Amino acid sequence: MKKIIAYNRVEAPVLKELQKKYDVHFFKNIDTGSDPEFLKQLHETEGIIGLELPVDQELLDRAPNLKIVSNVSVGHNNLDIRELSKRGIMATNTPDVLTDTVADTVFGLLISTARRIPELDQFVKNGEWITEAVEPEHFGTDVHHKTLGIIGMGRIGKAIAKRAHFGFDMNILYHSRSRKPDAEEEFSAVYCKLDELLKQSDFVCLITPLTPETEGLIGKQEFQLMKKSAIFINGSRGKTIIEQDLINALQRGEIAAAGLDVFENEPVEPDNPLLKMKNVVTTPHIGSSTHETELKMSQLAARNLDAGLSGEKPPNLIDESVWE
Ligand code: NAP
Repeated sequence: MKKIIAYNRVEAPVLKELQKKYDVHFFKNIDTGSDPEFLKQLHETEGIIGLELPVDQELLDRAPNLKIVSNVSVGHNNLDIRELSKRGIMATNTPDVLTDTVADTVFGLLISTARRIPELDQFVKNGEWITEAVEPEHFGTDVHHKTLGIIGMGRIGKAIAKRAHFGFDMNILYHSRSRKPDAEEEFSAVYCKLDELLKQSDFVCLITPLTPETEGLIGKQEFQLMKKSAIFINGSRGKTIIEQDLINALQRGEIAAAGLDVFENEPVEPDNPLLKMKNVVTTPHIGSSTHETELKMSQLAARNLDAGLSGEKPPNLIDESVWE
């Protein structure tokens, strides 16, 4: 039986299927640089399936038999793709199956932040709703008919645009490395340079991958370009923004509010100033985490792993050149 490592999150029914075919070793909450059992299994493993395992040169040096790393996520900033390809090791991810779920999360954060739903939930539950008509200090801001700027008009960006255009009559601006004629036609989305998008948007939504180019893409200058009334939503990765600059922008009133699914450090530190701000709505990196979608992601990751280990081309190879 081929040996594989399952890491952090593989849904139970999928793990059970994998156990019928492979000698599976499951690890969670360990130090992958020093855990002796993990390092022992890593030396013999042919495949890795899981969430957010940092795969770098050092780990690869300790995995001489590795043939494939199958991420249970679409983002793959945890993988050193260049190093994997150099060694002829396949890497795969799980696009498409999570697109609508992540778009729902991002839109949920957007509405929650604009209409202050978590804050007002606490207001009601704390027994503070004592006059029939709540005071204007508790009012929110409209979402419908406003301008939404989407940075990263890929699969998820387009699913967000679809919701905004058809559901909320929003005007859509977008910025990507390349123009997206399909989004321009279907959602009347208008391509913008980043600065222009930041200046004109009521809501700025960041949904690019984390890459060397997007690391720290939104910082002090970018927050200063946004409207004072702007609401910033990050559904990408924590490090695509400079988090301290977001804290400063919120403290100085340079933007109005933020909705965040991702943080520079995860889990976020309990003393992070963002957690004390009423105008910040947070979720714990659960963009794709519904029961249905997590199962689909695990199933797709298992298909990728099976293909790679049986000599077939995995459906979601990140760098196709390893196959050529
Ligand atoms: P995708 O289809 O590859 O779309 C990514 C988009 O980002 C593309 O439009 C791309 O532009 C754009 N982009 C890349 N580099 C850029 C840059 N330097 N400047 C401007 N735009 C840039 O990926 P996806 O499936 O939509 O996923 C996007 C990301 O969402 C993932 O990589 C992940 O980080 C994040 N995500 C988060 C969660 C969560 O739980 N919060 C869940 C899933 C995904 P071009 O098309 O022009 O190259």
